[in-house]
Amino acid sequence: MNFYDSIKKQDKEVFDALAGEEVREQEGLELIPSENYVSRAVREAQGSVLTNKYSEGYPGKRYYGGQEFTDAVETLAIERAKKLFGAAFANVQAHSGSNANIATYMALLNPGDTVLGMDLSHGGHLTHGHPVTYITKFFNFVRYKMKDPDTSEIDYEEMLRVAKEHKPKIVLAGFSAYSRELDYQKFVDIARQVGAYSVIDVAHIAGLIAGGAVKNPFDYGFDVMTSTTHKTLRGPRGGLILTRESEDIAKRINKAVFPGLQGGPMMHVIAAKAVAFGEAMHPSFKLYAVQILKNAKAMEEVFRQGGVRMLGGGTSNHLILADVFGSLGIPGKEAEVLLDRVGITLNKNAIADDVRGPMDPSGIRFGTPAATTRGFKEGECKRIAELMLEALKNRTDEQKLSAIREEIRTLCLKFPVPDSFV
Ligand SMILES: *Cc1c(COP(=O)(O)O)cnc(C)c1O
Repeated sequence: MNFYDSIKKQDKEVFDALAGEEVREQEGLELIPSENYVSRAVREAQGSVLTNKYSEGYPGKRYYGGQEFTDAVETLAIERAKKLFGAAFANVQAHSGSNANIATYMALLNPGDTVLGMDLSHGGHLTHGHPVTYITKFFNFVRYKMKDPDTSEIDYEEMLRVAKEHKPKIVLAGFSAYSRELDYQKFVDIARQVGAYSVIDVAHIAGLIAGGAVKNPFDYGFDVMTSTTHKTLRGPRGGLILTRESEDIAKRINKAVFPGLQGGPMMHVIAAKAVAFGEAMHPSFKLYAVQILKNAKAMEEVFRQGGVRMLGGGTSNHLILADVFGSLGIPGKEAEVLLDRVGITLNKNAIADDVRGPMDPSGIRFGTPAATTRGFKEGECKRIAELMLEALKNRTDEQKLSAIREEIRTLCLKFPVPDSFV
């Protein structure tokens, strides 16, 4: 733990929390599909001296002097992001995925304009117009849904009808809890039919796109892609906005991020983004992305054989939504707590048309990006899924639960989180 030498000497309280988290991450099994482990190189960049620097503006056009190295680092991040996703323009300053979305709305909409996005209960994200977010005070959000949660196919006819009725200025694709691929062409066609921008939020699947394991939405003509950099893309916590070809849109997005929404960019995080993008360009990242999908498939198979209903009938990406209440009679919250006790971290999740409330929904959501980073392959993932089902089916058998906990811990210790991926 020499990464923390100075903190250890100087601030015992913070050091203890960091040391505790190190152990938790090494010994526990992380199945939250939005989490991952970054390389030591990414952490070094994020812990670098660039945190000292104010760099308001963009490379070559800053408000303060002393920018030769910040310009170099931001330009590297931009060029790598463009190459990874086939974009003409990239903004790497958005502090988070939420900011990336808000800045995109600000760039493309006037107050009162309408966005057509995925219903939250069917897999969309808070920033796609959940009433608890302030952004809904400024823009109007209307919804599309899945036609049938057991296939996860979007109801594209209804979507077109709603689009024609409400005349959105953005047709928004993308999700946090959806296990299949969208029909990108249909989204872009509907957007064009009503004269809207097509935007896709790939926060969850950016790494799968960069690694070529799933389709690239830009190949279907989306105008803008927003993302996080810390989920499957395996970089520092941050946001990213890509524009396929329009310089006009890209300029408006840059203005919306700064000075519209944010102040000085987090240049240390941008350096870490550049490092992570460099890793994602390495051939090993393609194997990683493909393995994430294979591992999810291996878990899907065990759940299917165990008679557990999965939304969409399974998965085509990195995550699975399982209706544990409907299939095993165990509410999502109880399943989350139970699995946490055996060393498996995942989250309860509402499923489409949930019969239970949002605070204690019917489902659990889990995925393989972090487990795959550890080096787990299909065999380990199959075993983990078996252990999950065993725990869920024997939730009062303390002896069995402690045996499962021990097996999970042993498995994790056998696969330490790596320092480097290239
Ligand atoms: C995670 C996520 C975000 C938000 O990212 P933050 O960095 O947490 O703000 C936005 N959109 C989708 C689809 C997400 O899954």
